[in-house]
Amino acid sequence: MFVDKAEVRVKAGNGGDGRVSFRQEKFVDRGGPDGGDGGKGGDVLFVASRNQNTLANFRYQKELNAEPGKPGDKRKKHGKSGINLVVLVPVGTTVFSAEGKLLADLTHDNQEVILAKGGPGGFGNAHFISSTRQAPKVAEKGEKGEEFQAILELKMIADVGLVGLPNAGKSTLLSTLSNARPEIADYPFTTLTPNLGVVDIDKKTSLLFADIPGLIEGASQGKGLGDEFLRHVERTVVLLHLVDIYNDDIATAYKTIQAELKAYKIDLTKRPQLVALNKIDGFSQDMIDDKLSELRAILPAKTPLFAISAKSRAGVDKLLFEIKRQSELAHKKSVKKESKKSLPVLTLDDDLAWQIKKTKDGFVISGKRIEKFANRTDFSNPHGVERLRDIMRKMGITHELIRQNIAVGNKIIIGNNSFEY
Ligand code: GDP
Ligand code: MG
Repeated sequence: MFVDKAEVRVKAGNGGDGRVSFRQEKFVDRGGPDGGDGGKGGDVLFVASRNQNTLANFRYQKELNAEPGKPGDKRKKHGKSGINLVVLVPVGTTVFSAEGKLLADLTHDNQEVILAKGGPGGFGNAHFISSTRQAPKVAEKGEKGEEFQAILELKMIADVGLVGLPNAGKSTLLSTLSNARPEIADYPFTTLTPNLGVVDIDKKTSLLFADIPGLIEGASQGKGLGDEFLRHVERTVVLLHLVDIYNDDIATAYKTIQAELKAYKIDLTKRPQLVALNKIDGFSQDMIDDKLSELRAILPAKTPLFAISAKSRAGVDKLLFEIKRQSELAHKKSVKKESKKSLPVLTLDDDLAWQIKKTKDGFVISGKRIEKFANRTDFSNPHGVERLRDIMRKMGITHELIRQNIAVGNKIIIGNNSFEY
C-alpha cells in the first residue's frame, strides 16, 4: 500500500544522571569525590534508503525511541551512552514538526539526519572540585532527550517521468522495463492513479519510473491529476518523452506535449529531457531514419533522440544507459546544491543571554543556557540548588535580581523549575 503520510512520536534518549560518590580510602574518613558522569542519550537518526518504498511501517510503529544513557558510577566511571536509533525511510521522505516546520528533507540515498538529539549526561561530582567546594555532594541530572511529534511525508521521487500523448506507449514501456511495481492504493489526492515502476538498469542501479497519465488533458490547469501528485512530477530529474511513430505529424505531437510541460506551474521543459520515437518494430530503417530527422529538425540541439520499440525492446538498452547517465548527472547537481544547506536541524544553541521578568508569581528568568542548567539541576538536593546559585552569580543574574529588589523568600522561576531566593 502506498502510504503518503504518517505521524510518529520521536524520542531521543535522556542523558544518564551524574553520580555522587566519594573515594573509599584506607585510613581516610572520606576520600575525594569520584562520581562519574552520566552517559549521553541515544539520538534518533533518519537515513534515506532506496530499498524503502513506503511509509507503511510507521502505521504499526508509531513510537521511535532511542536508548537513554546510563548513570555514572563510582571511581569516575562514565555511564554508557544510549544506543542511537537508526530509522530507514524511503528516499523522498520529508519530516515536519506538528507545527508544520520542515525538519528534514531526505532526497538522496544514504542521506542521514539527526532528527532528535539525545540528552547529554549529567556531570558526576568528580567534576566539581573547586577551592570553595572541596567535597561536593552534588551531581547533575542528565538532560532530557529531544521529544516531539513528527509528520512524515513521502513524495516519491520518480527519477524518470514518462510523458507523451495518449497511446504513445508509456504504459507498455513501463511494463516491459519494470521488475517491481510499488503498489498504489487509496491514493487520496488523485482521480487518476500514477503508474510507477522500478527499473533495474544494471546490478547497482534501479530507477523509479512514473508514467504520468493525463499530464495532458488539461493537467496543467489543475484538471486530471491532483496537485499532490503533480508535486511528484516536479521532482523527477529526467523526463522521457515518447513519440508514436504512427503519428501522421510527429512534430505536432512533440510540440503539443512541450506546450503542456511549459504551461505547468513550474516550467517542466527546463528538465533534462530525452525523446524516444516508439513503435519502430514493423518499420524499415529508412522510414525510421526519415521520422528521426523530422523530429531532429524541431528538437533543441542537445536533446538526445532514440528509436525504440516498447514491445520488442529494440533500442531500449541504449536508451536506459543514457537515462542512467542523465539521472546521475542530475543527482550530482542536486547533492551539490543541498550540501550548502546544513540539514540537521533542532540543534541546541548555547546562548548565554538571559532575561528577567518580574511577575506576580515571582522573578521569571529565561535564557537558553540558564534554563539548560536549571533543567539539569536536582532540586531535591540542596547542593544542587547551591550550585545553580553559583552559576547565576557567575552569569550576573544574581546581581540583576538584587538590582530589581529581590528579597529573601521571593520565588525564582526558570523554565519549569522554581525555588526560593
Ligand atoms: P499510453 O497511453 O502512452 O500508456 O500507451 P499504451 O502503452 O497503452 O500503448 C498504446 C497502444 O500502443 C497499445 O495498443 C500498445 O500495445 C501499443 N504499443 C505500445 N508500444 C508499442 C510498440 O513498441 N510497438 C507496437 N507495435 N505497438 C506498441
Ligand atoms: Mg497508459
